[in-house]
Amino acid sequence: MISENIKHINESLPAGVRLVAVSKFNPNESILEAYTVGQRLFGESHAQELVPKAEALPKDIRWHFIGHLQTNKVKYIAPYVSCIESVDSLHLLKEIDKQAARHGRVINCLLQFHVAQEETKFGFSIDECREMLQSDDFKNLKNISITGVMGMASISEDATQIEREFTQVKETFNALKAEFFADKPSFCEISMGMTHDYPIAIRCGATLIRVGSGIFGERMYK
Ligand SMILES: *Cc1c(COP(=O)(O)O)cnc(C)c1O
Repeated sequence: MISENIKHINESLPAGVRLVAVSKFNPNESILEAYTVGQRLFGESHAQELVPKAEALPKDIRWHFIGHLQTNKVKYIAPYVSCIESVDSLHLLKEIDKQAARHGRVINCLLQFHVAQEETKFGFSIDECREMLQSDDFKNLKNISITGVMGMASISEDATQIEREFTQVKETFNALKAEFFADKPSFCEISMGMTHDYPIAIRCGATLIRVGSGIFGERMYK
């Protein structure tokens, strides 16, 4: 049962950790079932799915965009998202800033880091990210707020490896906090951990976990 899964996970979370219920490929009725037991934070990974859901569902839902985001899709989601967790280039960030300005908003963004073994995963390296944060182009952006980092561990049975990768995300957060965001309390989120690895992520310092199939059941697609 969706409502029981939501309650069970939320009750087990330590203070300071929040659940993003990943509702991709699940219908509005399933989202409403989670909503009814108090869940307000949901994650979607496709623009064409997020927009109709955001239009149809209660307005106090906060939508996090968690999937790889193409620049040409930003304009569709800009009115609806409370946070884009998957920022992986300055090019994308500039477009988010532009579309946020068009809607008179500031959009929260997490910087995604590549820590997994798989080449197919997206994200900055720490050096690429430093270069961006030092650039004038970045400093001129007014309609985005960088609120933390996001990462995905390798798909692996090896808990030690997963722990090593999550620790790398946490250390990246610490380094960026010290170098670029020391005077910004809003830089505070570490989003990591999915259905199969979120307990490890919590031990490694996650503040946001993103759980989909553990709530809504197995999906046909990733
Ligand atoms: C699908 C997805 C999740 C949730 O995955 P589950 O294994 O179903 O919990 C989390 N994060 C991202 C980026 C995803 O695409």
